[in-house]
Amino acid sequence: MTSPLRLTLDGAALAANWRWYAARSGSAACGAAVKADGYGLGARAVLDRLAAAGCRDFFVSSWDEAAALGPLPAPLSLSVLHGLREADLPVALALPVRPVLNTPGMVARWKAAAPGRPCDVMVDTGMNRLGLSPSEARSEILSGVRVATLMSHLACADVPDDPMNRRQANLFRALSGLVRADRYSLANSAGICLGAAYRFDLTRPGLGLYGGVPGPGAVALPVARLSAEVLQVRPVSAGDTVGYGATFVARAPMRVAILNIGYADGYARALSGVGAVLIDGKRRPLLGRVSMDLIAVDVTGTRVGEGDWLTLDPDLAAASAASGVSQYELLTGLGQRFARNWV
Ligand SMILES: *Cc1c(COP(=O)(O)O)cnc(C)c1O
Repeated sequence: MTSPLRLTLDGAALAANWRWYAARSGSAACGAAVKADGYGLGARAVLDRLAAAGCRDFFVSSWDEAAALGPLPAPLSLSVLHGLREADLPVALALPVRPVLNTPGMVARWKAAAPGRPCDVMVDTGMNRLGLSPSEARSEILSGVRVATLMSHLACADVPDDPMNRRQANLFRALSGLVRADRYSLANSAGICLGAAYRFDLTRPGLGLYGGVPGPGAVALPVARLSAEVLQVRPVSAGDTVGYGATFVARAPMRVAILNIGYADGYARALSGVGAVLIDGKRRPLLGRVSMDLIAVDVTGTRVGEGDWLTLDPDLAAASAASGVSQYELLTGLGQRFARNWV
């Protein structure tokens, strides 16, 4: 079977993006978040390529994701960010993977089930998402626990001037002197860009590896390129409309190509009027609304015909800014109908 839509994935760009974050991590080790199936690109394929580039520390959200990756060969390390529910114990004890303990209950569960075995611990420094409170982290509940990585997560790292960044880093710095761990880790992609005070021993980029731009000053090579086959090219007269809701009205005669991709493939409906294909390096705008399985683009004055393949504009940051859909959602929403091809 040949799919009428493709996801072309650039392994060299992925590795180059990781090296960019590794260089900005200074002497800290640079890991990689591969949760949500490697942000939609395929966790296994991403992990193998990043390991080959030198990455050692990987992070997923759930034990399902860890189990799907299987035991990783040393010296690779995998941590499960969402911690350890009672139901997770069998798989957690069977895999060489560390839970990131987030609550006193999780700590007690791990102490009882795997005494002495290393784990990671998340401490909440102000985001009020997952993690022990600072006072819980300093208390006796962690006594006897071998903490491989003590980590925290930044709430506003994509806004460099937000005073919350410094508050969180200062609190985490203080905790690092009070809670014993082999390593300390604070920064995601955007956090790495905030500078040396955020690096600690280990960084955890995600978005930036996959071609996203987490904030000012970051650069990324596009990793995922979508292309779709033209199913039909039709002439449209002045005054005709295109697509659901008849939202696009042609002002002049034009040629319109209908492509096999839509919001069910993760090509967000919010990209209506925003997205574009690239033809000979030129942006050609989408016309009208994104359908579930189809989009229409203006191919007036080109030789594009039925059966041709067109590539969608891969600029994630621009698509996000224009559509209001976060770069994270644009990536993780990518559907299952693509033929995936690493180059
Ligand atoms: C997802 C996640 C990351 C990676 O964040 P990016 O913004 O994608 O770089 C790092 N740490 C934790 C705890 C996460 O949940």
